[in-house]
Amino acid sequence: MEMSGMEPRKVDIEQLAWSWSEEPGLEQLTVTRTHSSGEVIEIPVARIKGTRPGPQMTVMSGMHAGEYSGILAAQKLINDVKPDELTGTLFIIPVISTKAFMERNMQLNPIDQKEVHFIRPGNPDGTYSDMLIDTLFDIVKESDYLIDSHAGEMAQSLMSWVPVPMRGANELSSRSLELARGFAVEYVEPRYDLPSIPPFCVALLNAGIANIWVECGKNGVPTDEDIAIHFDGYIAALQTMKMLSGDAARPRQKLLKGTRSQINSEQSGVWHPIVKEGDVVEAGQYLGKLTDYFGNTLEEFHAPNKALVLYYWSNPAINAERRPHGYDWHNGLVSLLDLED
Ligand SMILES: [Zn+2]
Repeated sequence: MEMSGMEPRKVDIEQLAWSWSEEPGLEQLTVTRTHSSGEVIEIPVARIKGTRPGPQMTVMSGMHAGEYSGILAAQKLINDVKPDELTGTLFIIPVISTKAFMERNMQLNPIDQKEVHFIRPGNPDGTYSDMLIDTLFDIVKESDYLIDSHAGEMAQSLMSWVPVPMRGANELSSRSLELARGFAVEYVEPRYDLPSIPPFCVALLNAGIANIWVECGKNGVPTDEDIAIHFDGYIAALQTMKMLSGDAARPRQKLLKGTRSQINSEQSGVWHPIVKEGDVVEAGQYLGKLTDYFGNTLEEFHAPNKALVLYYWSNPAINAERRPHGYDWHNGLVSLLDLED
């Protein structure tokens, strides 16, 4: 994808380690790698090397291509952080899934229909998405801290919150929690249950990298307010880790505990949700209905337990047949966090 006026240096992943300057400053390049299918991976990476040595942090976004608020916040971070104000090195990857981004392809990779957040790195000989995630891991693997910005996709109305993977040493978990504390979201959700933690996050923890993923923004609309929550959270994390000076913001947050569950439809149809993201629903509460094309009710859906609505699919088109690799992206209706009383 050529963009006029923007031609950053292209560097093959094999050469990346030797491609950065020794000098403090801002550098921008595009990491490339060619898949056996002939499709090329391109990942834009900015590096800001501070004038004082210190830790490495990576801020990345655009793993899912329609989650724009983090992408725009990452661009602002590239522009705003000055090398003479920075201790250590900050890597910023504004768009991970560039092919999906340019095709406006929601959630799944357009080449192999995989959900990249569920892929474990270490399989570069697999499909395009496997190589993409392996390449991403190669870029970030020397980091001490990593923040991965997400939002609600174009079809998702999502409550803003920050999940924190809590596996591994206590010290690593507590540093991950520290990364989350500067984001102005109502809830932070420590996750202890391995199946509920995306494999990429687990791989980061196994490499000793404290990390969080931030869910803020919805429906593919990058509002100024949501962009600011991502951006201010990055700055607070940099201040917390003493990479920038100043007192880190500590907005009021609540800790969220519960078990994830998702309401899916087993048949295709037109979805009429009546819940909203952030609602607390009681066991048995009506969530919405699925109709046929004419509007005749096919099925009504109710909450199995008392739960918080993390997000729901605001897009009416529900396709129960389209399940690449078994994913429930096209037949998902409501994502819940079952609350213990
Ligand atoms: Zn996402």
